[in-house]
Amino acid sequence: MTRLTIDQFICRQDNFSVILHDPASGQTASIDAPAGDRIASRLSQGSANLTHLLITHHHPDHVEGIPALTAAFDPKVIGPAAEAGKIAGLTESLNDGDTFEFAGRTVEVISTPGHTSGHICFHIPDEQLLFAGDTLFALGCGRLFEGSPEDMFNSLNRLAALPDETSVYCGHEYTRSNAAFAMAVDPDNAELEARRAEIENLLAKGLATLPTTIGIEKRTNPFLRASDPGIRKALGMENATDLAVFTELRARKDRF
Ligand code: ZN
Ligand code: FE
Repeated sequence: MTRLTIDQFICRQDNFSVILHDPASGQTASIDAPAGDRIASRLSQGSANLTHLLITHHHPDHVEGIPALTAAFDPKVIGPAAEAGKIAGLTESLNDGDTFEFAGRTVEVISTPGHTSGHICFHIPDEQLLFAGDTLFALGCGRLFEGSPEDMFNSLNRLAALPDETSVYCGHEYTRSNAAFAMAVDPDNAELEARRAEIENLLAKGLATLPTTIGIEKRTNPFLRASDPGIRKALGMENATDLAVFTELRARKDRF
């Protein structure tokens, strides 16, 4: 099987647009629809026809392009059943554990409430690919607009259980500010320090800091490291539960 090609580019301010393309079948998917015109022109440059639109959650910066892309390409529009009432234009509504086929690969839906209550992520095990939307970011996680800290904690733990080699694409380029926060709460993490230098390097060249991997995030993202002794010490929470540490991290990030 030929590999899928992946085109990642910034839309709007800091949204990532990701286009997945299978040269063999011609099937093409956009992960979310931050900007219909940008995505449509990118597709026509590559002379691809959009066959699938995969929607992670209902926020405007992820769905605004649906009408334009539907008018231009008439793709299947696949999104969370729990938010179907908030997303105009869905043709298929899916729940946790549901699967569908894209370009001969199985795509698994992982329900990840927290940022929004119906947020879903898309996992393609055959390609070791995860599209995490606004749940997991490089060195960070989504804000809790609708869910509880416990919702997000459980959602992130499910993603962290995927194989370390899984490539992770995210909804936003927030890595620089996430790195600053991560350093503040995990000051003795040498790999994090090295990663921060690498991130500055990429950004200085105008390159994206994504994708990341599950393994890299487990070693450097404080929101996946609530059990880490160094982070607990920095927070003065040596004896707290992992959930309490995670809750404190999320609250501090909101004020950072
Ligand atoms: Zn969002
Ligand atoms: Fe967003």
